[in-house]
Amino acid sequence: MNYIEEPARRIPVVAEPDVLVVGGGPAGIGAAVAAARNGAKVLLIERYGFVGGNLTVAMVNPMFTFHDIQGKQVIRGVAGELVDRLVAKTVSPGHVTDLTFDNASMSPFDPEGMKLVLFELLEEAGVELMLHTTFADAYTDDQGRVTGVIVENKSGRQAIHPKLVIDCSADADVVARIGAPFVKGRESDGAMQPVTLFYRVAGVDIPGLKAWMKANRQLLKDAPTDEEIDAQSALAFLGMKEIIKQAMENGDYPKDAAPRILMYELPQQGQFAVNCTRLQGIDGTNVADLTRAEVETRKQAWAVTEFMKRHIGGFEQAYMLDTGVQVGVRETRHIVGDYTMTEDDVLSSRAFEDGIACGTFAIDIHPPEGEQQVFTGSGKAVYEIPYRSLLPQGVHNVLVAGRCISATHNAFGSVRVMATAMGIGQGAGTAGALAVKRGLTTREVDAGEVRRLLLEQGQYLMTEEAATVIDESLRLLKSDGSGGTASHHNPFAKQSS
Ligand SMILES: Cc1cc2nc3c(=O)[nH]c(=O)nc-3n(C[C@H](O)[C@H](O)[C@H](O)COP(=O)(O)OP(=O)(O)OC[C@H]3O[C@@H](n4cnc5c(N)ncnc54)[C@H](O)[C@@H]3O)c2cc1C
Repeated sequence: MNYIEEPARRIPVVAEPDVLVVGGGPAGIGAAVAAARNGAKVLLIERYGFVGGNLTVAMVNPMFTFHDIQGKQVIRGVAGELVDRLVAKTVSPGHVTDLTFDNASMSPFDPEGMKLVLFELLEEAGVELMLHTTFADAYTDDQGRVTGVIVENKSGRQAIHPKLVIDCSADADVVARIGAPFVKGRESDGAMQPVTLFYRVAGVDIPGLKAWMKANRQLLKDAPTDEEIDAQSALAFLGMKEIIKQAMENGDYPKDAAPRILMYELPQQGQFAVNCTRLQGIDGTNVADLTRAEVETRKQAWAVTEFMKRHIGGFEQAYMLDTGVQVGVRETRHIVGDYTMTEDDVLSSRAFEDGIACGTFAIDIHPPEGEQQVFTGSGKAVYEIPYRSLLPQGVHNVLVAGRCISATHNAFGSVRVMATAMGIGQGAGTAGALAVKRGLTTREVDAGEVRRLLLEQGQYLMTEEAATVIDESLRLLKSDGSGGTASHHNPFAKQSS
């Protein structure tokens, strides 16, 4: 390969925040809001012209999962507040029963409403925003501290001097650039979960769709009853495996796409978020792979929509409204932190002395190869994420939050979802602000004090008192279908069995 030598150049320092948050996805939002509320001067940089990460950029819907199988809300704090604000703006029905997978709840939302509410949340917390700005590089001193961050935007190449950095880029871009250790994907071979281009369809005739679902319930997962279909305020649709298998053989359905239809009704009339495209063997940190994925999954999305119009009642006049700004990348780098979370931590409901957030989503692995999505744990467990998993080795003023924390491929299958990512972000932001306030390194921060602050500020953690107390105002209500006939581990299936 040929190389060119970049000449040295002087770069203007445009900001000197206490805390620099890189990436405005669920983790970055949680981190920035929490750090600002805890007194830090916070700058959030984001490469797109709005924030939200997969909530908005990749158009992923719904948010998973805030509730355990008793209906207890175990992710509260900033993420809980966000859903309350979305409901108040009538851009989300709030938490409803998950009838697609084995989790208690799901929280659908309108992505445009989400963009607005997230800006409001950041503005009220006093977070300074720098949009259209991509993290490019970072420099460390011989003490293992990041001393300068380089960004690129329309104003040119700029430098930022932060006291502490929270890497919420999802790909651990900061960690990779400074040369701290990371791994990619599955331990055995580095294989990563496939990418999916989410998109919205509009113009769906809901009564027509419900009638079709009732007449074809055997095609849907767990064959929902008429009552379940009628009672859903946000329809969830999963099934048609056999028909799709045949269609793939006949060339009537894209052969690389996920072999089932999965879609979720959105708050705006007649709209669905569609989770059907799929491409395996893509490395989301490789630009050639990303380019191929954008082209291929858009072709798939058109073909899937045509298939829906031909085969699903209520979809006759439906059309593709829009695709995600970019393909959704499920998995890339995992940092090597002071502690690496394991599948056993998730499935055995492990609590940690330095736990800074909870998760309760099942281990959901879209296969790096082959067909079947594997779901383990069924949302039965509530577990904590330890602060040590946010600490990249060899560096002392950088925290990581979101899907790239230190976790094995299997543990990551649960940790990765958006409610959990925002909870982890809140933990990182709270710890980061404390480190700056006290002049400490990330490893000198007292995790017990971070936990106390999180509890005071409305987050849920697995303390002895918290484990027994259910805040009745936060209990999941039977608001959306009964789930009684389903194999779901939701509170209502449990009551009816
Ligand atoms: C196809 C798919 C389906 C999924 N389904 C669900 C689901 O149904 N429910 C659920 O809860 N979760 C789901 N997930 C998982 C979830 O969306 C992600 O794991 C979660 O969004 C991770 O949050 P994050 O904040 O770490 O990263 P992201 O949401 O990816 O946010 C990262 C942000 O950082 C920005 N960024 C990245 N690099 C840079 C840079 N160098 N400079 C500046 N900005 C940068 C990005 O633009 C983005 O805004 C799905 C994921 C995918 C891909």
